[in-house]
Amino acid sequence: MIQYCNKCVTPSSRPGLSFNQDGICLPCIISVEKDKIDWGSRRKELNEIALWGKDNSDSNFDCIIGVSGGKDSTRQALLARDDLGINPLLVSCTYPPEGQSEIGAQNLANLTNLGFTTISVGPSPKIWKTMMKRSFIKYGSYGKPTEMALYATTPRVAIAYRIPLIFLGENNVLTYGDVGGSTTGDGNRMKYNNTLSGGNPSEFFKNTIQKSQAIWHSYPSDKEMELGNLRIVYLGYYYKDFNNKINAEVAIENGLHVRNSKPEEIGAINNFDALENDFVHVNQMLKYFKFGFGKTTDEVSELIRLGEMERDEAVELVKKYDGKCSTIYIKKFCEYLEFSEDEFWDVANSFRNKNIWQKKYNGSWELKYKLV
Ligand SMILES: [Zn+2]
Repeated sequence: MIQYCNKCVTPSSRPGLSFNQDGICLPCIISVEKDKIDWGSRRKELNEIALWGKDNSDSNFDCIIGVSGGKDSTRQALLARDDLGINPLLVSCTYPPEGQSEIGAQNLANLTNLGFTTISVGPSPKIWKTMMKRSFIKYGSYGKPTEMALYATTPRVAIAYRIPLIFLGENNVLTYGDVGGSTTGDGNRMKYNNTLSGGNPSEFFKNTIQKSQAIWHSYPSDKEMELGNLRIVYLGYYYKDFNNKINAEVAIENGLHVRNSKPEEIGAINNFDALENDFVHVNQMLKYFKFGFGKTTDEVSELIRLGEMERDEAVELVKKYDGKCSTIYIKKFCEYLEFSEDEFWDVANSFRNKNIWQKKYNGSWELKYKLV
């Protein structure tokens, strides 16, 4: 049984999501409470954190920010430098060449043009691909090892350069209701969230990958983090207007390149998300098979919370675009992983959740529960 939030359109099949007795989801409740927050005292707390970063760094840089060059990381870098007045070192984890999009490369270059210093870490493409393939087969999603690399590189560089303050963007527990513990600005335990599950990628090694080959995929241990004196902070927690819409506006004003694709090709209405990689559309489609919702659901739910969209319009957009993915991206993904398209669909369909999907007489699938 799927329950949809009465305010936005998020379904109860989103892992970790909870509802109150009025059928309103946690992120909707939190978004209303944003008006009651004492933003002044949060700002004071943030200023103290920035000062702590400056005082505890052994470098000319005061903090580390993991960047993709996308809207959120561009906004974080600008906030750190221009609003907090500290000097961030940006760390980018680069995708294997086949996964890196042209726009992503332009956006990373844009950060350099904006005057930031960026270090790029490029984990072994061969290891990356092997783990992605194993994750896709095991979970029906390639994302786990990729996320591990994207999040582990930042604390590894922070420890190596002795810059202990790390800024992350939003706290997904507050924005999306994800499973993950912290509901504050403290991100020190974020490696224990749902996706990273401790940050240890060894389940993908299978005797062909050594731990030492996957160091950039492995989150530092608690001991290493403690020795590095790491302090990981969600910058988004401290800014009332830190959201996808405003972040995109600010980043575009500052040179962000956006996608030129149609919603039916990418299953999303926004053209400013996950710009560095095209496989992400395939993953959103797979998520749709497993949980019955895709990227459009997240996008319109956020717009409803911001008061920018009516629920009726959101329902229509979800019906039209959720879970859509152009065959171009599926073909590209299959080529990359060296799968035939039949093999891909065998795996993908095996993850279709039969509790929420039913097969129609003509062989196509439809959701058992209707969003209204
Ligand atoms: Zn909601």
